[in-house]
Amino acid sequence: MSQGPERHCIGVFGGTFDPVHRGHLEAADQVRRSLAITDFRMVPARDPPHRGATGASAGHRLAMLECARLEYPELGIDDRELERPGPSWMVDTLASLRQEYPDASLLLIIGQDAANHLAEWHRWRELFDLAHVVVVTRPGQSADYPPELERELAGRWVADARELHRAPAGLACRVEVPEVAVSASAIRHGLGAGDPVAQWLPEGVLEYIRAHGLYGVARDG
Ligand code: ATP
Repeated sequence: MSQGPERHCIGVFGGTFDPVHRGHLEAADQVRRSLAITDFRMVPARDPPHRGATGASAGHRLAMLECARLEYPELGIDDRELERPGPSWMVDTLASLRQEYPDASLLLIIGQDAANHLAEWHRWRELFDLAHVVVVTRPGQSADYPPELERELAGRWVADARELHRAPAGLACRVEVPEVAVSASAIRHGLGAGDPVAQWLPEGVLEYIRAHGLYGVARDG
């Protein structure tokens, strides 16, 4: 590590979190530890541009993230996308963080499936001006980048994650995380069908789902 004061390093893990599950949380926590990120933020999307209606409202999705924090206290929550009208473009989220933290190292953390489609994101080339891109492994997903994304990534890859702390943006890095083979859609489906899903969710999240009768679950009491 270089001498001198550490650059502030912010990890940004965006998603619909509908609901947040152990796949998200274990991946996030592993990246946080592997890259020594002291300011880690889960960023729920208000109006995810690439998908249809969510199963739970933004308020419930935020509340479930807060329940998950009881078990994962190091994973902070940043609700700026919920405050902003219109589609939740990540490029706008990173630009607002960059305004607040001009010198910080910003890390955009995305699963392999999302990374493969990065070139479909709004103003995607600007993401590299604003942040580093950290790709986390995801069960069943291998790297499959279209040529324009492959070209953009070439020359940005670093093997030593410490380099991400030395520059504010512009690099790319892969991080291996323990595989948790689950998706929010599988959980929503399981909840609606009455299948057991408890192993994939922190207890507090499942309690919240039951208390509020989300995803077709009969409300407690
Ligand atoms: P859905 O099944 O509804 O598409 P999801 O489980 O993929 O949802 P998102 O909120 O879309 O959840 O994902 C947010 C981020 O978390 C994405 O970058 C995604 O790649 C990553 N992610 C989701 N599930 C996992 C998992 N099991 N392991 C690693 N990363 C994951």
